[in-house]
Amino acid sequence: MYTFPLSMQKLIRELSKLPSIGEKTATRLAYYLVQQEPAISRELAEALVVASKSVRLCNECFFFSEGEKCTICADVQRDRAILCVVEKPVDVVAIERMGEFRGLYHVLHGVWSPLRGMGPEKLKIDDLVLRTKTHEVKEVILATSATVEGDATAIYLARSLGGNGTRVTRLAQGIPKGGELEYADDITLSRAMMGRSVVE
Ligand SMILES: [Zn+2]
Repeated sequence: MYTFPLSMQKLIRELSKLPSIGEKTATRLAYYLVQQEPAISRELAEALVVASKSVRLCNECFFFSEGEKCTICADVQRDRAILCVVEKPVDVVAIERMGEFRGLYHVLHGVWSPLRGMGPEKLKIDDLVLRTKTHEVKEVILATSATVEGDATAIYLARSLGGNGTRVTRLAQGIPKGGELEYADDITLSRAMMGRSVVE
């Protein structure tokens, strides 16, 4: 039985380890890459190595960064008294794209999901509570997804933050039920931000 040369098989195997890339897509990508100029693959390989070496999490907000602090936390123009809490780093990019929010972020890196073994201890919740205690934070905006898990996380967070004088608000439900923040369009997101209300 004929098959691809060994080096190509290895490339397919490595590519298929990536999320949402099955063997078929991996084969298609490998097929494309081996037929291009070597420079294309070299640049791709270099970008992979450089990004995986230099990207880490910001010490303060846990967004992606190349230093101890991300560019948002390092920006002195931002309002440090408002924190927007999101599930994933990609949500920061979605809110930034809207271009209206001038506070800082806090990335949880997940949602509370007992069924998937995600307990609150696996999220950056203690860090958030500590942040509100050690910095002058007037408002924490909970921008977790409009899903059952996102709601449960918001309730848990509101309880964890309660009683330390910080105003805790939740995005208005302009985001469709079951909707994840990263897929919301800018106008919906902007409305949800404007219409946020205090969590009781
Ligand atoms: Zn940061």
